Amino acid sequence: MTDDGDRPVPGKGLINGLAVTLKTLTKKTTTQQYPDVEPELPPRSRGVIALLEENCTVCMLCARECPDWCIYIDSHKEEVVVPGAARARQRNVLDKFDIDFSLCMYCGICIEVCPFDALHWTPEFEYAETDVLSLLHDKNRLGEWMRTVPPPPAHDVLGEPSKEEATAARKAAGPGAATAAKTARPASVRPEQPRPESAS
Ligand code: SF4
Ligand code: SF4
Repeated sequence: MTDDGDRPVPGKGLINGLAVTLKTLTKKTTTQQYPDVEPELPPRSRGVIALLEENCTVCMLCARECPDWCIYIDSHKEEVVVPGAARARQRNVLDKFDIDFSLCMYCGICIEVCPFDALHWTPEFEYAETDVLSLLHDKNRLGEWMRTVPPPPAHDVLGEPSKEEATAARKAAGPGAATAAKTARPASVRPEQPRPESAS
């Protein structure tokens, strides 16, 4: 007897199980033959993080914002003599930039906060290791991932041009274009649609 007083039907569980098996057999299979066949991943998949070292100014924002504290940065200052300047300037030189992927949770905050586009997602995911310590990628290894970073998506044709593009376009148009550009309607502003007349 079941809890609600009904008599159990003998073999009902077996029939239900067979029904599920039959239903699954007739469905299209989704098995992926990895690693024989490479999976087709979306272009902006979060596989591993790549570092474009030339863009890094050692501002430390990424290391400070990382919720897992798995970015380790070290640097020193060096003087740069600028011809014509009263005194030498100082710049940061990156000595160490490591990411520990055994701690990283792939939140992407470091990439979002980097003001200089020095960090990028790449869909490359085949970097499993047998030794967990090898998941600490140094700046050279992070730099090597740059070759797997997909190109950025195309600009939205209806989007406003960036500040740099607008400045370049003004310069190319010559003097006087700046005033005209200020008074011109931006390309992305669509003309106002006529309002439907209200039924009154
Ligand atoms: S993806 Fe998130 S957890 Fe990983 S290094 Fe960046 S900020 Fe840290
Ligand atoms: S936020 Fe960007 S520029 Fe700043 S230290 Fe990190 S990678 Fe370098």
